[in-house]
Amino acid sequence: MSDQIHTAVLIVGAGPAGYTAAIYAARASLEPVLLTGLQPGGQLMITTDVENFPGFAQAIQGPFLMEQMQAQAEHVGTRIVHDLAMSVDFSQRPFRVVGDSGTVYTADTVVIATGAQARWLGLPSEHRLQGAGVSACATCDGFFYRGKRVAVVGGGNTAVEEALYLTHHADRVTLIHRRDTLRAEKIMQRRLFEHPKVDLIWNAVVEEVVGAGTPEVVTGLRLRDVPTGALSELPVDGVFIAIGHMPNTTVFRGEVELDDEGYVVTRPGQTVTSVSGVFAAGDVQDKHWRQAVTAAGTGCIAALEAERFLTIQAAPTHLRSAAE
Ligand code: FAD
Ligand code: NAP
Repeated sequence: MSDQIHTAVLIVGAGPAGYTAAIYAARASLEPVLLTGLQPGGQLMITTDVENFPGFAQAIQGPFLMEQMQAQAEHVGTRIVHDLAMSVDFSQRPFRVVGDSGTVYTADTVVIATGAQARWLGLPSEHRLQGAGVSACATCDGFFYRGKRVAVVGGGNTAVEEALYLTHHADRVTLIHRRDTLRAEKIMQRRLFEHPKVDLIWNAVVEEVVGAGTPEVVTGLRLRDVPTGALSELPVDGVFIAIGHMPNTTVFRGEVELDDEGYVVTRPGQTVTSVSGVFAAGDVQDKHWRQAVTAAGTGCIAALEAERFLTIQAAPTHLRSAAE
């Protein structure tokens, strides 16, 4: 027989949103259970310097920050479970989540904090050469390009950060962007433009990742100039795709309202979803800000809203309708 765990607050996800929700729920004596999924610590586990999370005068490492959040969540009483939510049922109370382990989690409230993951261009050649010169994580794979030429595709903060990080390893870093302006923060843009190892190709898209050899490895990119349609080839040893992220919401499809891009829809200024008692925090419901601190902020709101929800549910019916 499979295990069953009941909790007042089930938090799905172990990034800044999930851990912050856990800290607040635990300090409200709600004894939350948090499921980590496959990436305990979330997206910041694959980055190096974090300079914009308040409270640290010097840059800190992403994994360090997340270890601290986990330790704090555990210290105040969160039960952390290494399990992946595979299916959910929000049509019945208590809510039901089934883990990859087979454990059934029942919960009076759920906080969805499953974040987002890297988006790919969708080219067959990109898929074929993943791990052979195509990557979405410079901090993971940059080391392999010491003294080589690499390209980064994208124009946001991630692309610029990846490009700057790669200058520590590669001889030449080319950032390829489909428009003629970056959406990255100005301070990051300035660092990029001033870097002697970096050059930029504007208004260009990757038509194909070119490979050669046995086993096949990346040798270049076939680029298309957007205004003219002209094709060109850029010789590179590696390409880092940094074109944004997709929300991790497959498991919630049909159970809670999602928008056209798959983000969980929340009430403006709140974490309330289409299902009463289910809340969503962090990148899974935020396609605009997507910062560690904003994820943490909405994680805090989700825990406070869950606590308020439970208080109202516990009240006599005639008081309940007045409070809702
Ligand atoms: P995530 O960090 O994405 O965490 C999601 C969690 O959900 C993970 O633990 C995952 O395992 C879990 N999960 C997913 N699916 C399931 C499931 N089915 N069951 C159980 N668990 C599941 N922001 C900054 O403020 N400063 C920076 O310097 C910065 N640098 C960045 C560098 C990079 C390379 C990237 C990619 C992002 C960076 N960001 C930065 C953005 C920041 O990382 C995110 O905004 C933040 O991590 C979002 O937190 P989150 O908790 O919403 O989700
Ligand atoms: P993003 O801001 O959404 O930027 C994605 C970039 O990729 C855009 O420039 C976009 O072009 C381009 N793009 C999208 N699809 C493409 C395609 N099919 N082909 C070519 N280019 C494509 O994503 P992000 O850079 O990953 O950042 C996500 C969030 O994390 C942001 O909120 C960011 O601020 C945050 N973050 C913060 C830091 C930091 O603070 N240091 C670091 C990393 C990330 P267009 O511009 O034309 O749309």
